[in-house]
Amino acid sequence: MKPKIWLSSPHMSGNELPYIQQAFDSNWVAPLGPNVNGFEIDLQSYLEEGRHVAALASGTSALHLSLILLGVKNGDEVICQSKTFSASANPIVYQGATPVFVDSEKETWNMCPVQLEIAIKDRILKGSKPKAIIAVHLYGMPYKVEEINEVASKYDIPIIEDSAESLGSIYKGQKCGTFGDFSILSFNGNKIITTSGGGALVTRTLKQKEKAVFLATQARDNAPHYLHSHIGYNYRMSNVVAGIGRGQMTILDSHVAKRRSNHEFYVNALKNINNIVFLHEPEGYFSNRWLSCILLKSKSIREGLRLALEKENIESRPLWKPMHQQPVFKDAPQYLNGVSDELFDKGLCLPSGSNLSNAERDRIVTTIKLYFN
Ligand SMILES: *Cc1c(COP(=O)(O)O)cnc(C)c1O
Repeated sequence: MKPKIWLSSPHMSGNELPYIQQAFDSNWVAPLGPNVNGFEIDLQSYLEEGRHVAALASGTSALHLSLILLGVKNGDEVICQSKTFSASANPIVYQGATPVFVDSEKETWNMCPVQLEIAIKDRILKGSKPKAIIAVHLYGMPYKVEEINEVASKYDIPIIEDSAESLGSIYKGQKCGTFGDFSILSFNGNKIITTSGGGALVTRTLKQKEKAVFLATQARDNAPHYLHSHIGYNYRMSNVVAGIGRGQMTILDSHVAKRRSNHEFYVNALKNINNIVFLHEPEGYFSNRWLSCILLKSKSIREGLRLALEKENIESRPLWKPMHQQPVFKDAPQYLNGVSDELFDKGLCLPSGSNLSNAERDRIVTTIKLYFN
């Protein structure tokens, strides 16, 4: 059996271990310490725009805290992009609220502004104005920021920007992770940079960050004994894994460049196969190309190709199954136009890691070409 080629695997720079060593040498083996503060400052400088960053245990916990900070509670409704990973939607249910799923448009595969407005109007008509909108930059491609913002501000609904897959992506000169009222990042093992597991909440004010850190550290009020006037969470990032994050920040830009070069490589190598369609960057969009995705002519061709790759020990994956198709969310209100269903049927993510070798890329392309011959 040929060696496995993964979809997206961790890629260390060699700069991580000294930060971890420091954590051990100074005994900051705790969910606070110099690496946590340093990683937050690294992210703030990277994102610019004067944003504040709270390093957390995961992207999911960052989404959960942003819903809490926006006052989402039992019985509320929150709009969520249907085409996404389940972690975008699950925290809505943690709060006892109901997700309302909105379909995608074809240019970026992200939330469709037209469907969004239809959904908001209809929810208001039915007596419940949505409390927040969770919009996702899927696979690193920015969503239509201006169009989504315009609808959100027309109805005065805050946006939670799910940037878990889009650190390093840029929309019209501004970095993804700075567009939402709150934004979230993920450093899970498969993301563009990783801390093995981790995430961050990006806020517009220092006060919001402090509130998030307070809630993330069991909501301990200021007293010599443990005093609690709020329900707290254990959501802070460990100082050990924050050390991995500090090391990873040193090579973020080169990881983005490598992932973009993977995408370009696939586009060039497969351009003569007219069965394959790529997602192109609209004017002003810069995608980190976290995952390189292709669309095939039909579900059966997609599935055939996936199995052909699997036979060669190459991992690929259909595009995210939309949330409105998930058994667990089958009763949730949904506003659909058919786009995300079609993407799920015809789309495939190809191996996209920043650590893919030229030989591995050649193996992948050879397998795809063979399948189409
Ligand atoms: C990975 C991911 C998350 C969750 O991040 P975790 O750090 O794994 O909790 C949320 N949304 C999207 C779109 C993701 O891809």
